Amino acid sequence: MFHSISGNAGPAGYRFPPGEFRSFLAYLRGQSIRVPTLTEHLSERDAVSPSRSAVLTFDDGWKDNVTAALPALLEFGFRAVFFPSLSLIGRDGMMGWGDLQALLAAGMEIGSHGLSHKLLAGRPEADLLRELAESKRRLEEELGTEISFFSLPRGYLPPSLPALARRAGYRGLCTSRAGANAPGADAYRWRRYPVRTGMTAVDLQAIVQGKGWRLARRYGGEKIREALRLRHRLRRS
Ligand SMILES: [Zn+2]
Repeated sequence: MFHSISGNAGPAGYRFPPGEFRSFLAYLRGQSIRVPTLTEHLSERDAVSPSRSAVLTFDDGWKDNVTAALPALLEFGFRAVFFPSLSLIGRDGMMGWGDLQALLAAGMEIGSHGLSHKLLAGRPEADLLRELAESKRRLEEELGTEISFFSLPRGYLPPSLPALARRAGYRGLCTSRAGANAPGADAYRWRRYPVRTGMTAVDLQAIVQGKGWRLARRYGGEKIREALRLRHRLRRS
């Protein structure tokens, strides 16, 4: 899960430098690791081992995703999934509708990151359904393509969200819970590894090699610590 591809612009905790991004893509190509869209992942996930396949997602809709990430993706012939938040489209430093059209034209996949970019936990179901359905409708209207996937903003998955996402017509939901997805994993509770400021291409290689838990200790984050605790509990039981 990427946010901004930049050295010093973008959100303080969630930047990844363009040079490191390019190195990581070179590693994926060198290892012949598949880089599918979520639509492709959904159709092939039972056939491909998680260690041979990596879906690249980008949250929020940072402008540098188009200026820095897209050229590198095209250079390596990879595709990725971009999740803009409706409330951020056209803002300073963020993508406009033209940028999203350019991503689609380049073969990239667009999903929804909701309407408001506010925490969804603790909000009434009607609100959650609106975040899901209204953002889907507006993206589909503006972009003329089906929006099939939702990315949870700000972590903390409300228990009802997977069922509501299905009801709103989504085919999958990306959470912020750190981890890989085993074949046949619930598509409405997909895990992702957050890419944090300070990480390098070598760190991302470790994630692909199944050693992402080591990074979790170094880069912290409440959700990662929570996932670690759960893992330890499962090991003991
Ligand atoms: Zn976000």
